[in-house]
Amino acid sequence: MKLRKKIVNYYHSLVRRYKYLRSIKSFNIFLLLVTPKDYEKRVGVCLGCKYIEGNDCSVCGCNVYDKSKYITEVCPKGKWL
Ligand code: SF4
Repeated sequence: MKLRKKIVNYYHSLVRRYKYLRSIKSFNIFLLLVTPKDYEKRVGVCLGCKYIEGNDCSVCGCNVYDKSKYITEVCPKGKWL
């Protein structure tokens, strides 16, 4: 009986750790992304920019749809932060 209780407790502790780690991962991803409104603004500026070639910025070489998602990225010409 004691062994069964230990196994159940161990299983529950693993589930709690898994949920905790999963929540931290989601939190970090959301911290790195701009809001949908800012994302649309950034992409809109890029689409009207003279440096865009296809989906890429000819100055930095990045795909503007990917680059615009992250708060760590900036426009190399200072058109958006
Ligand atoms: S990142 Fe800046 S320079 Fe590059 S396409 Fe967008 S607005 Fe233009």
